[in-house]
Amino acid sequence: MIIQLAESYGFCFGVKRAIKIAEENKNASTYGPLIHNNKEIARLEDDYKVGLTDDHKSFQEGDKAIVRTHGIQKQELAELKEKNVNVVDATCPYVTKPQEIAQEMSEAGYSVVIFGDEAHPEIKGVKSYATNGALVVTCSNDLEDVKLHEKVALIAQTTRKVEDYLEVASYLIPRHKEVRVFNTICNATFENQEAVRKISKQADVMIIIGGKNSSNTKQLSSIAHDYCKDSHHIEDEKDIDPIWFKGKKFCGISAGASTPDWIIQNVVDFIEKNH
Ligand code: SF4
Repeated sequence: MIIQLAESYGFCFGVKRAIKIAEENKNASTYGPLIHNNKEIARLEDDYKVGLTDDHKSFQEGDKAIVRTHGIQKQELAELKEKNVNVVDATCPYVTKPQEIAQEMSEAGYSVVIFGDEAHPEIKGVKSYATNGALVVTCSNDLEDVKLHEKVALIAQTTRKVEDYLEVASYLIPRHKEVRVFNTICNATFENQEAVRKISKQADVMIIIGGKNSSNTKQLSSIAHDYCKDSHHIEDEKDIDPIWFKGKKFCGISAGASTPDWIIQNVVDFIEKNH
C-alpha cells in the first residue's frame, strides 16, 4: 500500500507562532487551551511549565496570561488588563482581523452575521467585538425569519469551507441593499483543504489526524469523506485499527492545523508497520 502525506498539512502559521510565544514565556498560564491539541498542550506543560487555566478570573495581579490562538472575549481581555495581569497575546492575526471587522461594522450600523460555530472560542471572541451584537449562523436556514438591517456585514470563522460560506452569502445578497462579505477564511486552511481534496480523490483510505475538538481538522475530515468513504479522523496512532488498511492500495494522510509533526510521524510509522 502506498502511504502518502497531502501536499500541505499540519501546523499553520498561527499555531507555530502561538507555540513559540508559549515556549518563550515559561511558567505562564494560558487562558483556555492554547491550541486544540491536548497532547501538544501536555508537552508545553512538561517542558516549559506553561499551565492552563479555564477561568480568566483566577488570574491575579502580576500573573502572566497567554491569550490562546483563537482569541478571547473583549470583556475578558479588559478585565485581565484592569487587574494588571501581564497579558501576552498569542491570538492569531487572522483571528484578530475578524474581531476588528466585527467591531468596525457594528459601530457603522451594519447587522453583523457570523458564519461559524457559536460554541467555538474563536466565534465567542469575534462576536464579543460586535458592539451592537451579532447573529451566528451555521447555514442559510438560520437566516429565515430573522430581521436584519438593510446593511449586513458577513464574516466567516477562519476554518470554514468556502462553498458553505458562499451559500450563506448567496442567501443574503438578494435580500438586502448592501451586503459586505469579508473573506476571513484563513489561507492555511485553504491550502490544507485543497491538498486533502486532491489526495482523497486518489486514496482508497484516508487518515486525518487532529484533536477531536479541532474545527479545522473536522473540516478536513468532512472533505476527505466527500471523496473517500473510508476516511478516519484520529487523534494519534492509538486510534488506528489496522483492519482499515486490508485490501487497500493508497492511504492518504492529512492533519489539522494544530497537529504537531511528532504526532504525524508516529502515525506514519505505525501505518508503515501495520498495513
Ligand atoms: S488556521 Fe489560520 S486562523 Fe487558525 S490559527 Fe492557523 S493561521 Fe491562524
